[in-house]
Amino acid sequence: MSETMEKVVSLTKRRGFVYPSSEIYGGLEATYDYGPLGVELKRLLKDDWWENIVRERENVVGLDASILMAARVWEASGHVAGFNDPLVDCKKCKARFRQDKLEQSVCPKKKGKRPGECGGELTEPRQFNLMFKTKAGPVDEDAATIYLRPETAQGIFVNFKSVMDTTRVKIPFGIAQIGKAFRNEIVTGNNIFRMREFEQMEMEFFVAPGTDEEWFDYWQNERLSWWQSLGVRAENLRIRPHRDDELAHYARACGDVEFKYPWGWDEVEGIANRTDYDLKKHQEYSGRGLAYRDEEKKEWVVPYVIEPSMGVDRCFLTVLCDAYEEEVKPNGETRTVLHLHPKLAPVQVGVFPLVKKEGMPERAEAVYQMLKPVFRTVYDKGGTVGKRYSRNDEIGTPFCVTIDADTLTDGTVTIRDRDTMEQERVAEDQLIAFLADKVASYTR
Ligand code: ATP
Repeated sequence: MSETMEKVVSLTKRRGFVYPSSEIYGGLEATYDYGPLGVELKRLLKDDWWENIVRERENVVGLDASILMAARVWEASGHVAGFNDPLVDCKKCKARFRQDKLEQSVCPKKKGKRPGECGGELTEPRQFNLMFKTKAGPVDEDAATIYLRPETAQGIFVNFKSVMDTTRVKIPFGIAQIGKAFRNEIVTGNNIFRMREFEQMEMEFFVAPGTDEEWFDYWQNERLSWWQSLGVRAENLRIRPHRDDELAHYARACGDVEFKYPWGWDEVEGIANRTDYDLKKHQEYSGRGLAYRDEEKKEWVVPYVIEPSMGVDRCFLTVLCDAYEEEVKPNGETRTVLHLHPKLAPVQVGVFPLVKKEGMPERAEAVYQMLKPVFRTVYDKGGTVGKRYSRNDEIGTPFCVTIDADTLTDGTVTIRDRDTMEQERVAEDQLIAFLADKVASYTR
């Protein structure tokens, strides 16, 4: 792991964003738990996506399909036969690698060495299916084998007809869903970047064949603007079109939204033109018609699909990596700060009494009660003001409000800005409007 990545991971653990799962038992590889601040940030990201994709649009509706689905779904989609990664083993140290990711892999047994550099020969690749299998019901026989879904998309495809029949949507329209997905990844790593249990935010946008290329461009632009609306800096984002030889079997085109992580550019979201592949396969396997009526042409048509698909956890890591800074202050000291967009900060306002006497705690408590219904606010009276500032810088609190002796005489408070560290005095009764304006007009 790169040095910056280690620092980001250490901060997320120290401050209660992300913990290794089952840690008191030594952990379970590639699974993580979100702590009090992490769960808040994760919810905010999902809400922002849902707002942007579903609520703000007339032509996208939501869905929450189950994780367990009929095994036939995965036969039809091609996952049982083909959701494989090429696995190679090192004959000497027994480590396992993904053949298509050898360049980015390191030997887990010999520090600083690449796969095979421990002196071992790598085996020929064999296909390894990434789906987790389990059994449904009390019988332990093959017929009861089902899978934990490796993507949320298929839950959308199998509900396409129900949504068409029960709502007033018309082509072009989208169905969006947020939910857990599971992949038995061969190589994990970089903390929550690649996990075996993760969460996805996906939307399948159904369009008339022939208009798919236009919609593919539209969604790439939409998604890039959303990323920037989170405050992620434009220079750290790009869209990389897939080469023909890396396209998935169902895709006509794919563009990855990539972020410049501490280890280099890597995928955070994929936007794919999935054609009519999935719906046609489900028609074939289920025997049900999955087409819409084109009233002009007077015929039934299976729509094409444009899919923006992303992992919530990678999105979380992206936002944290972009926000993280070790900054040298004018006095030469270093501070660690998360420049989170205020709309995503788990805590938006910290309220402090300067000292624990002279009526300041009571006054601060009243300010806290006033702000709490409007902003995610904490009341913090522990330690020096400097310590409270640095604690809040580390968790990305954009505004700290201090109640001091002047507050008691003239009713003004000090607001300290996380990014500039500048302070201004604002009247208590102007505070909500002042902070709301700061949140709404934020730019990094
Ligand atoms: P990769 O090439 O990194 O394995 P992929 O191309 O297989 O990813 P997709 O199937 O396109 O990924 O999944 C869509 C999104 O889901 C990805 O862009 C990523 O954000 C997320 N994702 C996929 N696999 C994982 C994982 N193991 N852990 C966390 N997020 C994941």
